[in-house]
Amino acid sequence: MAVSSLDSGTVKDEEDQQQTEAAFQRGAGVLNCSIQHAGHNLRSVRVSGLYTNSLVKSPSAMRLFIFLLILFSGHVGTAQNRVTISLSNPNQIKVEAELSTPSRSWSFRNAYAGVLGVAERIEEVRVADADVKKAAVGEYRSERESNRISYTVKLPKPTLADVSHVTWVAEDRGVLMLADLLPLEVHSLSATFVLPEGWTVESSSPRGANGRYDVAEPEKAVFCIGKALRKSSTTVQGMPLDIVFSGNWPFKERDALDRATKVMERYLALTGFRLRDKSVIVIAPLPITEPISDPKTSWKAETRGSTVVLLINADAGFKFWKSQLTVIFTHEVLHLWVPNSLKLEGDYDWFFEGFTLYTALRTALDLGVIDFKEYLATLGRVYDQYRAHPDTLSLIEESERRWASSGSLVYLKGMLVAFLYDLMIRKESGGRRTLADSYRDLFSGRLTDGADGNEAIISVLGSTPVSRSFIKTYVENSTEVDLNKVLPAYGMSVLFTGKGSQLRVEGDLNQDLKQLLRSLGYQD
Ligand SMILES: [Zn+2]
Repeated sequence: MAVSSLDSGTVKDEEDQQQTEAAFQRGAGVLNCSIQHAGHNLRSVRVSGLYTNSLVKSPSAMRLFIFLLILFSGHVGTAQNRVTISLSNPNQIKVEAELSTPSRSWSFRNAYAGVLGVAERIEEVRVADADVKKAAVGEYRSERESNRISYTVKLPKPTLADVSHVTWVAEDRGVLMLADLLPLEVHSLSATFVLPEGWTVESSSPRGANGRYDVAEPEKAVFCIGKALRKSSTTVQGMPLDIVFSGNWPFKERDALDRATKVMERYLALTGFRLRDKSVIVIAPLPITEPISDPKTSWKAETRGSTVVLLINADAGFKFWKSQLTVIFTHEVLHLWVPNSLKLEGDYDWFFEGFTLYTALRTALDLGVIDFKEYLATLGRVYDQYRAHPDTLSLIEESERRWASSGSLVYLKGMLVAFLYDLMIRKESGGRRTLADSYRDLFSGRLTDGADGNEAIISVLGSTPVSRSFIKTYVENSTEVDLNKVLPAYGMSVLFTGKGSQLRVEGDLNQDLKQLLRSLGYQD
């Protein structure tokens, strides 16, 4: 179904907000949306990890590797690299690169976030003044050095599995991700685009007076292209934000901007850290033409660098757009901070996905998009999904294997562990601290750039003997989450019903537990 045929009558206006949100709490739920995008987020460190995991295991070898990488990146990594990206037809992109330093070998990324064979899209590789040979998928060599290379990138029809991770163009729009369009050797560049008549470009990369975009880190650069793109811009407490819209949507663009603004304000307050670069949120139709087997796949998202790309399934038929967008923003916008503004290495996905799910849920509660009942109901649904998966590895091991497995436990167990951590820290501190305080610590400047993500996060979360022991149990060791056993200490219990697990607040609570639960949003 085309976007324009969406029934705009199903969407409520501002005046109906109370009604829409109440219904949203009953029906739409938070998890259905948040969990759909397993595997949407990726840091550049993980990408290099895909290439180096088998080669480099020890930290000292990794340091040497990074040193060599920096050494060699200096070789071709200056701002003199100039790239022209042309869209000649919807299935093909032509790239012409003029590099500041000549080279005899060029490598293209072949795997990204579980999407394999990305480099197979590269064809017709030519280098100026030399013959070039394909040494392997994504690997090209020439006998003589050259500083000009050109090639085409074939664009297959996007699929549900790859659409949020790799470059695609469909109908009159597309998302270009330089990570899969440029050789790995190109570390900074200026880019120009040649597009069909009437198409424009939006990006968080700054555009110079000459019309060229300056890109410092191509692996994080995203360009939204298309016909009739619309843009709403604002500044959120000093942080520039653009929302780029493609397609027709039954919500007001200023409402989307307003909701994104509110979420950004929350996360600035949560972290105490002001994002340095302009953030861009792209909202476009999910460009999938084949039937989507799971109708619950209502959206896909990826937050890369400073860009959130949100692709919404027009057939999902959201009724409560403002609430739905807010719920999605509470998760995706947090990724602009965690992990994208943390310069940490390694696979700590259990934290930046699992704890992000939980913090997004708390934020949705704080913003009034959901109520305390829905907060508990969401955790109950997550618990049921968690119990449907065998849990034999630690969260750290699950994070390492996220792309080799379904990756669900990183989300499900990670979220439940965040919930238990929040309960534990509130109780241990007599209500003076919550999980939210850890985010301030993460951004307080005490973490070293390039530090191991797991070590750094554990040092922040496990700063007291009790919290250290908690992290050892649930993050470093493979202890199962048993809410039935743990929750009574916090005045709650799990009721197993035919409709699934329900988290309940106990009737007879002492003053301390009452206070703890009230701090979570419980109203007795
Ligand atoms: Zn995420």
